[in-house]
Amino acid sequence: MTQARLKYFGWGREGEGLTAEEEAAALDRYRRLFGVDGFDELAPPVLSAIELRRSRVVPPASLAPCCSSAAYDRVVHTYGKSFSDYARGLVGDYDSAPDVVAYPRNEAEVSAVVDWVGSAQGALIPFGGGSSVVGGVEARLDGSACRAAVTLDLRHLDRVLEIDRTSRAARIEAGVFGPALEAQLKPHALSLRHFPQSFEYSTLGGWIATRSGGHFASLYTHIDDFVESLRVITPRGPLETRRLPGSGAGPSPDRLFIGSEGVLGVITEAWMRLQDRPRFRAGGAVRFADFFTAARAVRAIAQTGLYPSNCRILDPQEAQNTGAGDGTSAILVLAFESADHPLETWMARALECCADFGGTPERAGVADAHRDGAAGLWRNAFIRMPYARERLVRKAIIADTFETAITWERFEAFHDEVKGATETAIRDVTGRPGQVTCRFTHVYPDGPAPYFSFHALGRHGNLLAQWRAIKSAASDALIRAGGTITHHHAVGRDHRPWYDKEIPALFAAALRAAKQSLDPQGMLNPGVLFDP
Ligand SMILES: Cc1cc2nc3c(=O)[nH]c(=O)nc-3n(C[C@H](O)[C@H](O)[C@H](O)COP(=O)(O)OP(=O)(O)OC[C@H]3O[C@@H](n4cnc5c(N)ncnc54)[C@H](O)[C@@H]3O)c2cc1C
Repeated sequence: MTQARLKYFGWGREGEGLTAEEEAAALDRYRRLFGVDGFDELAPPVLSAIELRRSRVVPPASLAPCCSSAAYDRVVHTYGKSFSDYARGLVGDYDSAPDVVAYPRNEAEVSAVVDWVGSAQGALIPFGGGSSVVGGVEARLDGSACRAAVTLDLRHLDRVLEIDRTSRAARIEAGVFGPALEAQLKPHALSLRHFPQSFEYSTLGGWIATRSGGHFASLYTHIDDFVESLRVITPRGPLETRRLPGSGAGPSPDRLFIGSEGVLGVITEAWMRLQDRPRFRAGGAVRFADFFTAARAVRAIAQTGLYPSNCRILDPQEAQNTGAGDGTSAILVLAFESADHPLETWMARALECCADFGGTPERAGVADAHRDGAAGLWRNAFIRMPYARERLVRKAIIADTFETAITWERFEAFHDEVKGATETAIRDVTGRPGQVTCRFTHVYPDGPAPYFSFHALGRHGNLLAQWRAIKSAASDALIRAGGTITHHHAVGRDHRPWYDKEIPALFAAALRAAKQSLDPQGMLNPGVLFDP
């Protein structure tokens, strides 16, 4: 059976989305939050009504079979999945649509496309699943000398090429989507076990290029930990790093490309460290009087060396919004997984840490409730969340998230400053209160990765400016209070101003020198990480 094609406006494939009941429940909650009876509705344009400029470049005959300038291909590759992407798609703004989309079928074609775009003085935008929420795949050429934009969609590089069972690693093509990757590893009883929320519609190459964060709340938090070696096509030629379990030979070449967001080269394949599939699990939900008390318990757990696979605290409002709580308590969703040993002892010790701070397990005495009760409700809401934004933006509801990291000793003041600044901005910008909630996605012995969600009622015609003002106030607060502009969503174009404040000037200069050496024309992803 052929799969439905990906939506040009929204998450996932055509035909997928929120059910009528899910949408009604969400809107009911927003009506109460904003104190309104209804919402102004705006529908996105149908594909045939979207106006695109004439393509400014034509591929050579040798590449024509793997290139397209059809409207669907150009539209579906114009944006990622951020709020600002949806706000612009909603009003039919596709000014930055690429001129051509290339779908190379192998690495030789990737190289050929890089050579052609270089000789045509174009910009080349590497594209995995297009799930970027930071403007990472948008072909905005302002300020660059590039004459046209070509998006390089890697979806056909989708195979697991080789498995080394002894070292428990695999050589994998970069364009493979999460489910297809796991399906190819399953017959070997292996798994990458990197599950970002966007798992279904994002790719290995995208994860590596953005340093994505997976489901492991501790220890293996970022994809970085699983990368053994890389193969990259740069405008100056191919580059391959050596397969090693570890190395102290100078600055790591892998680390230069991990998180390079498509500006230094196109990652075509990687040797990835794998895991045996887990057979033992323990987990469940723990209730706390408030968020900060729960955070103190999580700090204790993070500093025990237990390394839970899941250790998310939801503040009371976040727990209520997802159906996991009633708004009166914070909820910790805790889980351990192992392919090797039972985990009851680990769970029991973590629950002792919780008890020290008054945390009470939802299912006392049940070792594994990681998919029951509040933990299960949270999990279900988490899986359905990506489908909400495309529905809410039509009603001018600004629902967005931002994430960061901070050391424990500053966490509480940091949280209050960021939440307060975002709430004030929502009130100033929209004229009414909204809501800002927080959870932890990842935790380290020296600090958490707080993840904020905000909800505001905007106005059609002004949505993008309203979102930008709120996002800027939140980002200013993150940097002012000592956090990072992103723990795992990447920099892209949207986080540039704050990234520039965060990294040391000399490091930025060194990175620009590396860019100049690998991509002297500045053809790769202009505007991402650096000025074009
Ligand atoms: C609903 C939702 C949930 C999300 N959840 C998470 C989460 O849990 N954790 C997380 O970390 N992120 C999350 N994200 C953000 C996003 O999914 C990640 O950044 C992801 O790693 C992007 O992968 P992709 O294949 O979609 O890459 P794309 O969006 O296609 O590209 C992202 C960036 O990487 C570059 N790139 C892509 N492929 C390559 C390649 N082969 N070589 C070189 N450069 C390349 C692109 O040019 C771009 O700059 C989420 C996004 C959404 C919409």
